[in-house]
Amino acid sequence: MTNKLVYFIGNWKMFGDISQIKSIKLLHQVSSKFKKKRKRNKIVLCIPNSLINFFSKNNKYKSISIGAQNCHHKEGYGAFTGSESASMIKKVGAEYIILGHSESRLDGDNNKKIKMKIQSALNANLTIIFCIGETLKEKRAKKTFSVIKKQLRESLNIKNNPRKIIIAYEPVWSIGTGNIPNMSELKKIFIFVKREIKKILKIKKSPILIYGGSVNDKNIAKFSSISEINGFLIGGASRSPKKFVDIIKNYYT
Ligand code: PEP
Repeated sequence: MTNKLVYFIGNWKMFGDISQIKSIKLLHQVSSKFKKKRKRNKIVLCIPNSLINFFSKNNKYKSISIGAQNCHHKEGYGAFTGSESASMIKKVGAEYIILGHSESRLDGDNNKKIKMKIQSALNANLTIIFCIGETLKEKRAKKTFSVIKKQLRESLNIKNNPRKIIIAYEPVWSIGTGNIPNMSELKKIFIFVKREIKKILKIKKSPILIYGGSVNDKNIAKFSSISEINGFLIGGASRSPKKFVDIIKNYYT
């Protein structure tokens, strides 16, 4: 295995409370342990907005960053009841933000809105975790590549700073189901997505592309065979510090 930087990004969804600040010590310990063995890694916890200020103030570990899970598509301030802009999220301490998650798409996000969100989050100097992926119906209709291509082309553009963008391929049929892709199909998708991003952003360097969908401590080792994977977006299993730590351990061992 090469000495590449691997992201382990937790998506807590609408779960969590301040008592869980304790869990970050365990994550920091495992991150440091592998860094000492020259396994470069980065842990990000994307938590509910209500916890961001508390977690960012009480997180003393550089190995761990705090992120949000969505924002409003308009920048700054405005009459949008119940919403928060990217800059407001940044001000309370977030460094990363998930955008385009399939659960947010179900709630009204579309490629056009996500494009605005990406721009406003980049303007707020947040690092984007931009989720793409096909539904089961689309997969069965053999539309995986065309769906992904459309999502990428309609939400990204050449003006986006590639160093502030992480793409997360998350097949919708895999999220929370226990089903993961066939590894040789996944490799093909990763090669395709990387090529598409390079074309859209007009970059030569390989973009950061991570996988999300039912990753756990039992199946993580399978993914290490795909060299194009730069990390993982982990939902359910990231809420348990033990499971999250075991994912990292089992990835490397
Ligand atoms: C997610 O919601 O981003 C996700 C990957 O969830 P899970 O790991 O639970 O499938």
